[in-house]
Amino acid sequence: MTDVGPEDRDVVLVGGGVMSATLGVLLSELEPGWTITVVERLDAAGLESSSAWNNAGTGHAGLCEFNYTPRRPDGTVDVSAAVQIGAQFLTSLTLWAHLVERGLLGPPEDFIRSVPHLGLGRGDEGVAYLRARWEALRDHPLFAGQEFSDDPAVLAGWLPLVFDQRPPGQPIAATRSAQGTDVDFGVLTRRLLSALAARGADVRFGQETRGLRRSGDRWHLDVRDRRTGARRQLRTPYVFVGAGGGTLPLLQAARVPEVRRYGVFPISGQFLRTDRPELVAAHRAKLYGHAAPGAPPISVPHLDRRVVEGRDHLLFGPFAAFSPRFLTQGRLTDLVRSVRRGNLPTLLAAARDNRSLMAYLVRQLRQTTQDRIAALAEFVPSVRAQDWELITAGQRVQVLKTTEGRGSMVGFGTELVTSAGGSLAALLGASPGASTAAATMVDVLAASFPGRTAAWGPRLSELAPSADTVHSWDAAQLAANVDHARAVLQLTPVRPGEDTA
Ligand SMILES: Cc1cc2nc3c(=O)[nH]c(=O)nc-3n(C[C@H](O)[C@H](O)[C@H](O)COP(=O)(O)OP(=O)(O)OC[C@H]3O[C@@H](n4cnc5c(N)ncnc54)[C@H](O)[C@@H]3O)c2cc1C
Repeated sequence: MTDVGPEDRDVVLVGGGVMSATLGVLLSELEPGWTITVVERLDAAGLESSSAWNNAGTGHAGLCEFNYTPRRPDGTVDVSAAVQIGAQFLTSLTLWAHLVERGLLGPPEDFIRSVPHLGLGRGDEGVAYLRARWEALRDHPLFAGQEFSDDPAVLAGWLPLVFDQRPPGQPIAATRSAQGTDVDFGVLTRRLLSALAARGADVRFGQETRGLRRSGDRWHLDVRDRRTGARRQLRTPYVFVGAGGGTLPLLQAARVPEVRRYGVFPISGQFLRTDRPELVAAHRAKLYGHAAPGAPPISVPHLDRRVVEGRDHLLFGPFAAFSPRFLTQGRLTDLVRSVRRGNLPTLLAAARDNRSLMAYLVRQLRQTTQDRIAALAEFVPSVRAQDWELITAGQRVQVLKTTEGRGSMVGFGTELVTSAGGSLAALLGASPGASTAAATMVDVLAASFPGRTAAWGPRLSELAPSADTVHSWDAAQLAANVDHARAVLQLTPVRPGEDTA
């Protein structure tokens, strides 16, 4: 029973993470007269996957992540996914720059800063791959200025910590992009939601959406105040479920037919972390390597310089761990409760058809501290175990689907689900994540409001040009737009030896 009657809203956004916050801001720009409510179960925004401690903070732009640049059988490298991510990240940069210019996001250095992105290739094959990757990308304006070197002296200048005490002899090379970024998506989320609230949106914390159902041409949301237990009902023609790990359970409760066969599997991320000043000072980069055989793309090892809450850290990981919760502050019963008659075949097929992934997960779960330090020693030969601590980062809820009779894990890409003529939209999956929030939300708008796309087009292209729009620009226009967004966000290329903090 609700304590008061339903409240009518034009838009309800479930979840106060970076996705809902971005969609809310875009909608408030496009339709300033609409009533928008955000419902977040925790006491503040951006505390789950969007929190700085629950993700790696990489501004994914395809600069250094090898999972976006697979090698073809003939030895050449397919860079199309890297170019796409680069364009999507530019959509985000453009939106953030626009809001910063209008004083809506505060000082940009609070949430984004330049940190060079490097890729490391080892062994003859790794070096050949890296060179082929660099050659395929170097002439594209989104990758301008990327450098390649296999000269140990140059590499030691780029990566002092990685080359300290490294035994000679192994072929090794790196690429370096000075325009890489580190993003605090938690701060960004809170700033976006503050901007939204300042425009009149109603942003509610400590309120959990417990039920969702369609009645007539409206969605009804049952919302419970987690502190007082009071219940309310919201009624809206449009709902976006941006509840991160909490999304599938809500869609299941609403009996959304599009997800009847979907399953999910939670994997937590763990990182080794150090705050020792001499180590942090010797690694001013985000350095990505190759994923282990059988490992999903989300497990690519990387050694990251991070600045969180004004403090410098180095993080290495991720290592996979298991928790049955779908949110870091979720319930132990989340996984069991998500199993339904409709998705059981998918879960069984996914277990049957992803043997190498399962084997990888089991190996990860059995890892000891020594194993993790040995993995880190591949990056930092001089590592001392006592300098590093293991921390648990976020939960990733990977989507399981059946495609052509095979159970597959959607590890690469975010799944956009729409239902009831686009009146409900939801995001499942976690990659490439927060970096592409603006481009993903432009897709959500197109899928949810097809009748308004023409009217919104010009304003949207200005605020957050879609990846397709970015691809349509010529080289000069692309370079000019990149330069403008970076200048507003105060992102200046970092030369080797310079500090990034
Ligand atoms: C280990 C790890 C590393 C990552 N690294 C990167 C990276 O380097 N770069 C990058 O771009 N991305 C990265 N990501 C992905 C990125 O963090 C996510 O894609 C992004 O934060 C998702 O945002 P969201 O708004 O969808 O979800 P969230 O930030 O999780 O927000 C969902 C919100 O919904 C709320 N909620 C849930 N259920 C309910 C309910 N029933 N009622 C009300 N509120 C509810 C939650 O409390 C939460 O605040 C990483 C993720 C992980 C796990």
